[in-house]
Parts: sequence; C-alpha cells; structure tokens
Amino acid sequence: MTRTSAAFKRRGLAFFRSKKALVHNAKAIMELASAKRLIAVVKANAYGYGDTWAATVLHDELGVKDFAVATLDEGETVRAAVPAEDCSVILLGVQPAFLADEMAEKRLAPVAGSFDWLLAAKKAIDESDKELPPLAIHLAVDTGMGRLGAKTRAELASMYNFVCAEDCFELAGVMTHFATADEDNQPYYDQQLADFMARVKGLSIPEKYWHVANSGSALYHHDEVPTDTIRVGSVLYGYNPALPDRTTPIDIQPVGSLVGQIWGVHRLLKGESLSYGATYTADEDQWVATIPVGYADGLKRTLSGMTVLVNGQEEKILGRITMDQIIISLNEPVAVGSEVTFIGTNGEKEIKIEDVADYGNTIPHELLTGISQRVPRVDVD
Ligand SMILES: *Cc1c(COP(=O)(O)O)cnc(C)c1O
Repeated sequence: MTRTSAAFKRRGLAFFRSKKALVHNAKAIMELASAKRLIAVVKANAYGYGDTWAATVLHDELGVKDFAVATLDEGETVRAAVPAEDCSVILLGVQPAFLADEMAEKRLAPVAGSFDWLLAAKKAIDESDKELPPLAIHLAVDTGMGRLGAKTRAELASMYNFVCAEDCFELAGVMTHFATADEDNQPYYDQQLADFMARVKGLSIPEKYWHVANSGSALYHHDEVPTDTIRVGSVLYGYNPALPDRTTPIDIQPVGSLVGQIWGVHRLLKGESLSYGATYTADEDQWVATIPVGYADGLKRTLSGMTVLVNGQEEKILGRITMDQIIISLNEPVAVGSEVTFIGTNGEKEIKIEDVADYGNTIPHELLTGISQRVPRVDVD
C-alpha cells in the first residue's frame, strides 16, 4: 500500500485518520446506549486526531451539537469550527473563576465545581464592563472521582438555586464522572450512579440536564445509562478504554494509524552496536533501517523494542528510541520509501493501539494525545 499524501512523503511520517470510522463509532455507541444526544469529547486535540476535524465531521455528518473540551483555549478552537448559533462547547476541566466573563463572552460553558466558584464567577461577570450573554453552567457532582463537584446534597442545592436565581447564569447541565466504568469494579460504579441519582432527583433537577456516561459507562453499563445523553471520547476514536482486553459489546473501528517511511537501509555487522547507550549489539551481520520518527513525535522511549510492521512482516525497534530517529530490524533489504506501521494494518497483520499501550505500560489515551504537532494528520477518506 503506497500513500500519496505530499505531507506524508515530505515528513516520512503521518497519523492517518478515517472520517468513516469516526462516524461509524459515534453511531454505534449511540445505538448501544440508546442515546439521542451525543456530547462529543474533543479535548486534547480530539485525543490527538485533530479537534477541528473531529468536531466538523461529527457536526456535518451526524448533526452533533454538543462538544466538550478541557481548557478555554481548546474551547475557542472548537467554537470556531462549528456553527455558533446551535452548538454548545463545554469546558470539562477545572477553570479559574476570574475568567467567567471571558467564558460568557465566548459562549463557553464551564463545569462549576463548588458554590464558591459560582460566587467568584458572578463577581467576575458583574465587574465586567461588557454587555454579556448569560454564562451557561454545568453543575458538577462529585460522586467518587474527587476532582471537582458538590460533595453534599446541601451544596448541590445551593449551587442549583443560585444558578437558577441569577440572571448572569443559565443552567445547561448537571453531571458526574465515573472513576471505574471501564474496570471490574461494579460496586464503585453502582455507588457513584446511585449517589448522582439520589442528588438530582432529590432536587427535582429535570432529566434533560443530566449527563454522566463516559465511554466505559456507555460500553459496559449501556443498560444503566439514566438519560438520553452520553458524553464520550475514546470510543469515538476507535479504541477500547478498558485494559487489558475486555471485549467491547460493539464493533468499534480504529480511526487512526501511525505510519512512517524507511529513509535509510544499511548493514549492521556482527559485534556492532547502535543508538544511545549502545544497548543493542548485532549477534550476526544484519539489515537495519532508519526511520524519521522519535519520542519528539510521541513514540515514547518506553516503546523501544516494540514490534512494527514492514511489508506485512514483523520487525523490531532496535536499541533506544531517540528524539527524531529510530532504527529497526529488517529480515531482508527493502526499498527506501517502504512503509513502517506503528499502529494500524500492514498486509495481513495489524498492530492495535491497545497492544502498543500495553507494551509501553500505559493507556491508548496517553499515547494518542502524545502524538505531537510535528506529525502531519492526513485524511484517508
Ligand atoms: C475525558 C472525559 C470524558 C470522556 O471520557 P472517555 O472515557 O474518553 O469517554 C467524559 N467526561 C469527562 C468529565 C472527562 O473528563
């Protein structure tokens, strides 16, 4: 398989992404969880795939209107990508309340973590000399994640009443976040869900405001999602949030593949070593290849030694991964320009992001969000 992208040829490396797979996954998870509304989590540059790309595809192909990011800057990027009049952009991460006026002006909806936060946000808005639209607020309920949110019923009640009473605010949602949805810890999950339900029902907060289900929840607890809304990221991007290998109840398709090109082929002689620390020494004469990819692209040093694919065959990264280059084994000499697959299919074989993450002792999210700006994103469809 040769790839024609000019950016790929120039750089010798690209992260290829499939619109069809993204749309397929979004549809499949909504169907599984019987969801009518998708809050698409596109934080951290849409887990590495490109936030503008993901938001545009989901809006144009599926009519998705709600997007969630972590930071104000990410929010501004996504705001600019989708039509302002009918889309909402939620800031999921903890925010400084003194920027509340800016959030209102830019129509970014923060998650409020406490009553004090709301007080400080109101102060910032009151002190602004601009005419501002109401700030849309999502109330956070902490049921066991411990990051932000009302811990008690009383605090949630005062937050809810305050947001409803003040003209500078507009209630947009009430949410919680699960800590163990993708793990075998049913009691913890059940407790979190029960706490959330007790609190929102106790205050008669209408169901249309609730959103709780992340990917693990929508996949593995799909019968227990209490609303029509899901708020998912990883499953959209085509991988299983659960490690090591719990099988997903639906077919999700990998959205991305990370592919490089061989730019140098040479012979390593018996007894010769390579890369920093000279940790690899040839037992016998062998062919090796150099590829323009390194840890500055997101190929972490802990992935040294991992399997890659060349012409449908398994090869290995030899010695340490350096900042900009790696050396791999070759069973036989291949043409300069041949493809090397780090994540994705090559011939009959496939390397899954889950397997790479497992090898590197991490999770797919960390690897994907670590694919740096230096790597071109190339659309395959
Ligand atoms: C990141 C995040 C999500 C999405 O999580 P996935 O497991 O990727 O679906 C949902 N909600 C909150 C609050 C998050 O921070």
